[in-house]
Amino acid sequence: MTQDMTQDMTPALTNLSGLNRAGISAALAAMGIPEKQLKMRTQQVAHWMYHYGVTDITAMTNITKDLRAEMLNWFEVKRPEIAEAQISEDGTRKWLLRLADGHLVEAVYIPEDDRGTLCVSSQVGCTLTCKFCHTGTQRLVRNLIAQEIIQQVLVARDALEEWPSPPEGRLLSNIVFMGMGEPLYNFDEVKLAIEMMTDSAGLSMSRRRITLSTSGVVPEMERCGEETGVNLAVSLHAVNDEMRSEIMPINNKYPLDEVLKACASYPGAANSRRITFEYAMLKGVNDSLDDARELVRLMRQYKIHGKINLIPFNPWPAAPYECSDWKQIRAFSELIFSKGISAPIRMPRGRDIMAACGQLKSASEKKSKAQLLREAANA
Ligand code: SAH
Ligand code: SF4
Repeated sequence: MTQDMTQDMTPALTNLSGLNRAGISAALAAMGIPEKQLKMRTQQVAHWMYHYGVTDITAMTNITKDLRAEMLNWFEVKRPEIAEAQISEDGTRKWLLRLADGHLVEAVYIPEDDRGTLCVSSQVGCTLTCKFCHTGTQRLVRNLIAQEIIQQVLVARDALEEWPSPPEGRLLSNIVFMGMGEPLYNFDEVKLAIEMMTDSAGLSMSRRRITLSTSGVVPEMERCGEETGVNLAVSLHAVNDEMRSEIMPINNKYPLDEVLKACASYPGAANSRRITFEYAMLKGVNDSLDDARELVRLMRQYKIHGKINLIPFNPWPAAPYECSDWKQIRAFSELIFSKGISAPIRMPRGRDIMAACGQLKSASEKKSKAQLLREAANA
């Protein structure tokens, strides 16, 4: 029998980075901080981590020197390792992050004139196999915990050097759950992450600047509106069940009628919180003007006051679709606008670094070209 010589007997340090108030408090309590000090100490640690971006416990100077020394025996403030960082020619940035257990996820930062949006992942990979989405071809999947979702934001703030974080005019002003994964299949952790993002002792962001995108997990949509108050984006991509089921297998479980009813009754949707629909333009599949007319009809039938974002299909290796022609996308958009519904064309960002919608897939999972060709041939 061989003995495992790699086993380290020192207990692992608890990583405080990305924990919410309750998490920090529990960690401090485990260390033996008396109950009556917990609230104050938690505030102090949170302020250093989320206002100043500190990753060194010794720099938390309003905590006594002795206590800081003791804390070093218990805690660390550590970001996930950046396995790869890329910048697109259009300024979009992508980070491939290695989590503590070795899994990889991606986060993308998109700078615009009036805002900067971080697109975060909620799962490693995705169990839903939408045919047009690269993430859906990844085999390895697990849910992220809230701490790992928040750490994506912290890594981006580090790279943007946005510490201390200003109250207004932030480079990183908006967050969208549009990275890898289906956020409503990991609702509990996503909800905790949203609470932490909006907490004054956390990232102090406004709910109005956070958007969650779902492929239409109907039973969780209402809960999402009621319990998080964030904006909802819904991946529609087709105007009838036959086509939607063909390109999004989740439609077999939650068909169009149920999805649209859930949108119509999304808490707050009638007022300020408008639903956004995402519609990827797939050449010869869902991009006819009859489809556009049907889209308008559906919006009216279900009395939904939403906006339809037309996303030119972003290609990936051996993808089974092509992007619609620009002329067709423009005609589709104009037809919908002419009926009084907003249908802007979203210009693709970061395509050159595979950072655009639906292109994310962890490098460790990338298949060889030969394998992709084999799979395409079999399909
Ligand atoms: N799982 C969630 C959120 C992540 S995907 C969802 O599906 O809504 C973010 C958006 O990109 C979704 O609207 C998705 O349908 C769309 N998308 C996926 N692959 C795409 C591709 N190749 N080109 C354009 N948009 C794509
Ligand atoms: Fe998953 Fe969304 Fe991609 Fe569908 S589009 S496979 S739900 S990440």
